[in-house]
Amino acid sequence: MNDTAITPPPALDAGKVELPPPVLPDGRVNFVGLTREELAAEFAKLGEPAFRAKQLWQWIYVRGLTSFDAMTDMSKGLRAKLAERFHIARPQIARHQQSLDGTQKWLLRQADGQEIECVHIPEEDRGTLCVSSQVGCTLSCKFCHTGTQRLVRNLEPAEIVEQVLIARDVFGEWPAPDAGRKLTNIVMMGMGEPLFNYDNVAKALKIIMNGDGIAVSRRKITLSTSGVAPMIRRCGAELGVMLAVSLHAVTDELRDRLVPLNRKYPIAELLAACRGYPGVSNARRITFEYVMLKGVNDSPADARELLRLLAGIPAKVNLIPFNPWPDSSFECSDDAAIDVFSAILMKAGYVSPIRTPRGRDIMAACGQLKSASERVRKSSAPALATSAPIQA
Ligand code: SAH
Ligand code: SF4
Repeated sequence: MNDTAITPPPALDAGKVELPPPVLPDGRVNFVGLTREELAAEFAKLGEPAFRAKQLWQWIYVRGLTSFDAMTDMSKGLRAKLAERFHIARPQIARHQQSLDGTQKWLLRQADGQEIECVHIPEEDRGTLCVSSQVGCTLSCKFCHTGTQRLVRNLEPAEIVEQVLIARDVFGEWPAPDAGRKLTNIVMMGMGEPLFNYDNVAKALKIIMNGDGIAVSRRKITLSTSGVAPMIRRCGAELGVMLAVSLHAVTDELRDRLVPLNRKYPIAELLAACRGYPGVSNARRITFEYVMLKGVNDSPADARELLRLLAGIPAKVNLIPFNPWPDSSFECSDDAAIDVFSAILMKAGYVSPIRTPRGRDIMAACGQLKSASERVRKSSAPALATSAPIQA
């Protein structure tokens, strides 16, 4: 297999929506979404020294400013020039929900009215933001609610970065405190397949990782893919983030059904790409996600076959109890079955945590995300009726 060849992602399907224009009618460009290099080039065009670009970057990504007026160390003339050329955008928070377990979910409305969800999961020693990469998802994994959403488009780099900015706004982490931060980790595990929107995801992550600004390190960022094998090496080489792979089945026959992308990139090809993931080692293990579906993929024999498949790959296995959603056709495995499965993996030396479902009561757990606008149209899910918009 040649895992350096890049297969272009399949075209977005019939439900595709067009991107909003990147420039406002008055000609201003969204500042968010420019890389440091692009910003440096803009400043060179304006005839401004490079250190000014760094100052501006810090105002926006360390202090969280959304207007140029308060940037007191810049001359009035420069502030006016910047305000003519750029705006600093935030999406509208169309709805905010908080789970009994502290998980929060935001429904973010983009400039074109399309909506995405973004989730914050607080834990004792960290706070993880689950970020979306697409409106909906073109892949229709059988157990995933996002995969049932008809309208799909890629998110722009700015729309990905803005999810982080919104979270910092809500937590008041401008600047982020040295200790006790609410946002420490990022997982690209929200709506969408990040490797089908690789260029925009890569640009956004470079902005998020930049040490002068948001500065979340690549070790604290995990990108989850359903198995776009040809893009995996590039992701590792260019971004160096932690990798998670949604495996979910140990035979091609079953995985073809659960994760239809497997028909294109079968298990052997996917695992070969994982073996070649740049920087993979015991310190930087690949996480294999495995959703526990009752009577489908949860037998001891499945666990033993999983061990055989993963042999030689520095890996940990995240067992995810299936999170139900309206009309889903699976059941979650029994606790006893999950425990047996986990014990087989642990006995073989694998770290195999059972992921505690978080935010199920607000449909914020893995695989439950779907834009509310879509859900309203198709059904009247109670999660919506009980939540209140916090910002118009
Ligand atoms: N598209 C990417 C990332 C988003 S999904 C991917 O598939 O990897 C994040 C994780 O949640 C994936 O492992 C996905 O398979 C899993 N998931 C999807 N639906 C689920 C459900 N109903 N219950 C539990 N996990 C689910
Ligand atoms: Fe898309 Fe991931 Fe859901 Fe599959 S599990 S439909 S790839 S979001």
